[in-house]
Amino acid sequence: MSTLATGKDTTCYRGRFAPSPTGHLHAGSLVAALASFLDARHSSGEWQLRVDDIDPPRAVAGSVEAITDSLSVHGLVWDGPLVFQSASEIRYERALKRLASMGWLFRCLCTRATLSERGSCGQDCEYREIGDGEPHSLRVKTHPERLPGFEDRFLGEQSVSAATLPQDFIVKRRDGLYAYQLAAAVDDAQPHFTHIVRGADLLDSTYRQLWLQQLLKLKAPAYGHVPVVQDDAGNKLSKQTGAAALDSRQPENNLRAGLRHLGQAAPPSSARSVTDILAHAVEYWTVGK
Ligand code: GLU
Repeated sequence: MSTLATGKDTTCYRGRFAPSPTGHLHAGSLVAALASFLDARHSSGEWQLRVDDIDPPRAVAGSVEAITDSLSVHGLVWDGPLVFQSASEIRYERALKRLASMGWLFRCLCTRATLSERGSCGQDCEYREIGDGEPHSLRVKTHPERLPGFEDRFLGEQSVSAATLPQDFIVKRRDGLYAYQLAAAVDDAQPHFTHIVRGADLLDSTYRQLWLQQLLKLKAPAYGHVPVVQDDAGNKLSKQTGAAALDSRQPENNLRAGLRHLGQAAPPSSARSVTDILAHAVEYWTVGK
């Protein structure tokens, strides 16, 4: 039962699905939504829906409705109101101020052409005087040796190396928009989500978000990454590469395919409705390595 729905604190599990409003839900995003939903409901936890709308140039009109309709058709009903990251900007600014006051931020003039191979600042901007008037991004410095690895609930022990955590990364873009890494690190910790379940393509982002949470003294959630769905050529399904929208006329088949992908027990053939399939999947949800 949800705390939000009932007002009672009946659970200590809080999870979320956090799509960007850049298009429809496809088979890959359904898997991420389904995994986080099942993990939460199996633990009698809350499951929230957060719209990561901090990148207006990439937003696609109508996608919030398309995503919420599709989740509802698949029985993935969230707790409480929809949450929009764009409402949190004051908290991101506060986090940046805090990082700056501790000396972790620097202004960077790099464009694509001047970045290092791994995307770090490639021209020592940290040591330059960069005025307010010069278009710049804000980067946070990193120290991979100061970040312990983490235990991924699905993939097991993960360790950080210089290859997984670059020397620095962007927390505010030169166009003034807050970077996904900063927004996710702050919003996943405040108010505290206990468990983040999402696609394995975000594993590298997790190191960055853990780093920011450590610097900001925020309580990190437990992370678990599930296998991404790939197309025939082995590329991750994504809206950018034209992944087809889910066929909302056959949610039962979509759910069964998602469960197969997640290595879950197949619901019996007697489970014909979305409700039956989800009830079985919640009960038998297993987190394997
Ligand atoms: N909005 C991001 C995405 O859709 C965030 C994912 C996440 O942190 O779960 O890729």
